[in-house]
Amino acid sequence: MSYDYLVVGAGLFGAIFAHEAALKGKKVKVIEKRDHIAGNIYTKEVEGIQVHEYGAHIFHTSDKEIWDYVNQFAEFNRYTNSPVANYKGEIYNLPFNMNTFNKLWGVVTPAEAQAKIEEQKAILGGKTPENLEEQAISLVGTDIYEKLIKDYTEKQWGKACTELPAFIIRRLPVRLTYDNNYFNDTYHGIPIGGYTQIVEKMLDHDNIDVETGVDFFAHKEEYLATYPKIVFTGMIDEFFDYELGELEYRSLRFETETLDMENYQGNAVVNYTDAKTPYTRIIEHKHFEYGKQPKTIITKEHSKTWEKGDEPYYPVNNDRNNHLYKAYKAKAEEQGNVIFGGRLGQYRYYDMHQVIAAALQCVRKELGY
Ligand code: FAD
Ligand code: UDP
Repeated sequence: MSYDYLVVGAGLFGAIFAHEAALKGKKVKVIEKRDHIAGNIYTKEVEGIQVHEYGAHIFHTSDKEIWDYVNQFAEFNRYTNSPVANYKGEIYNLPFNMNTFNKLWGVVTPAEAQAKIEEQKAILGGKTPENLEEQAISLVGTDIYEKLIKDYTEKQWGKACTELPAFIIRRLPVRLTYDNNYFNDTYHGIPIGGYTQIVEKMLDHDNIDVETGVDFFAHKEEYLATYPKIVFTGMIDEFFDYELGELEYRSLRFETETLDMENYQGNAVVNYTDAKTPYTRIIEHKHFEYGKQPKTIITKEHSKTWEKGDEPYYPVNNDRNNHLYKAYKAKAEEQGNVIFGGRLGQYRYYDMHQVIAAALQCVRKELGY
């Protein structure tokens, strides 16, 4: 069979590209270096519980088109993410909202909370925030920064908050309402039966062939010579053999345990925001789907520096890396027959809904519809 496309990576970006191209009659080969499809959204059933093998994934979007698109492949439950923070045994609601401000300062009204934040952010002297520390203080003041942000962020990224970009903390809503919903989006949920089925259904076409356990770099030259077009969703700097320098990534180590108890922590996500606890958060998977199983499965998430051979979970989008990425992007444009997509191919801190939007835009441009 001669193919129109080789898709490298069976994550969300690659699967959407392959699915849409197959619907348009194209023949697609998908290769994936892991021994399973679905990339980082892969979930696996253990003890009747859907385990998020690569970290907690909550779907959220305000875009009706994206929501309808993903609902073709799974039915979603009504899960709303409301993580809590554990700071040395004290529990605070996230994201930062009236429940957090009340517990911390005893304030009751939005005006009182606002006044407290204004008082604390005065130390910035009206300066426009230039890094994560300044951005955090400007949004929520120094107390929350010290207890709930500083150490968590430094564990997560392995860098001082003064060296990190402000946009990372702007991912989190700050609200003067008693609302513990982590996201502002209109549509939320967890797919009933897990995420893997979404990618399975996307790839289920007669004109798509999928091979797992195959690394693109083992046969790079052959692939480039054989396939008319390649969609590459791995690391863009690795594609070019790091010739302009190495981009930085953050990796994770997941420590998963099955416990002989029904309910370990009473919530799907608990963040440990102190410096001493070695992990950033504990996920209790059953709570994503209101599970009543007799056992429970928890995962401690440890953040670590990425080294060659580790999974590159997060791009580190600071100025140095964004600048280097731009240089790789320019090389990618010269490459002609390779499209770079997804979190690693485009070196962006994309959430799932953003990957879907980017993949749809890419495939529509490519196939002209
Ligand atoms: P990936 O899922 O990384 O897929 C790329 C695939 O390419 C991988 O399977 C990889 O093995 C394969 N590959 C790479 N190189 C090669 C090669 N050389 N040869 C063959 N195959 C290769 N998003 C949300 O919306 N909500 C959340 O709650 C959320 N939580 C997250 C939590 C964590 C810990 C992480 C890391 C991410 C989270 N995300 C979340 C983001 C979400 O995982 C991504 O947006 C999405 O999975 C990216 O899809 P992708 O296809 O770009 O990348
Ligand atoms: N963050 C924090 N304290 C928390 C949760 C998040 O300081 O309890 C900061 C941290 O810098 C993190 C960023 O907010 O990197 C974005 O958090 P999010 O939960 O979106 O991160 P992700 O799920 O992508 O790891």
